Amino acid sequence: MSPLFKIGRVLKKKAFYLKTKEEIELIRTSGDLLGKAHAEVAKLVEPGVTTARLNAKAEEYIQDHGGWPSFKNFNGFPAGLCVSVNEKVVHGIPGAYELREGDIISVDCGVLLNGFHSDSAYTYAVGEVVPRVRELLEVTKKSLEIAIDSVTSGMRIGDIGFAIQQYVSKFGFSIVRELVGHGVGKHLHEEPEVPNYGKRGQGVRLQEGMVLAIEPMINLGSRNVVQERDNWTIRTSDRKPSAHFEHTVALNNGKADVLTTFAYIEEVLNVKYGKTIVH
Ligand code: MG
Ligand code: MG
Repeated sequence: MSPLFKIGRVLKKKAFYLKTKEEIELIRTSGDLLGKAHAEVAKLVEPGVTTARLNAKAEEYIQDHGGWPSFKNFNGFPAGLCVSVNEKVVHGIPGAYELREGDIISVDCGVLLNGFHSDSAYTYAVGEVVPRVRELLEVTKKSLEIAIDSVTSGMRIGDIGFAIQQYVSKFGFSIVRELVGHGVGKHLHEEPEVPNYGKRGQGVRLQEGMVLAIEPMINLGSRNVVQERDNWTIRTSDRKPSAHFEHTVALNNGKADVLTTFAYIEEVLNVKYGKTIVH
């Protein structure tokens, strides 16, 4: 899940809650359960399945393993998953919609375990998708990897967004600006905000023990988004597809330590499709 960026607000100096090594390990444990819950969803993603079914599976799995789905009841959100199909960017509410061949679906989930949240998202292709949409998924996933690899102690938040922007712009895709990544910890959304665009050397300096959700939201067409009447779902204004990948990472020993994982998802996809590519 991603907070809406409050454009034009006055930036105040804030103290960031830096996590201890022990707390980072608690978040990693939360992230591991989250990765396994994602994999349970990945097993079910195919034409004909409803998004409500995906949500029910994730909620059940997380609670059966002692966690709580962080998004459920968060600011009134009614489910444990955000499921955002095709032109939906983020915060889609699970329901009766049945996935169709050629759809893409962003599945965003959070877990609260041992007092700490973790947050990650993965976008799947449902069956075969057109090549430009496949490219959108690959570029969005790669932009997250590049952002994570760029993290070093002493750099600033703007450097993360810069790394994403520089990569994505080469492909002619656009970056959503109204929603951003965020700090993660005892609360699902903490400071600082982590925009997916930015200028080198600007913004808050990264410090050891910061835990951040980095979550590029990349559109095939225009960067503009609107909110639907359900007061949650964000979709592209031109109704072209959007992709979203997210990891929770800690600044640990001077670099990004990824606390969530796609490994369980990709094991499932390997069994389904026999190879590791973005699905
Ligand atoms: Mg999320
Ligand atoms: Mg998030």
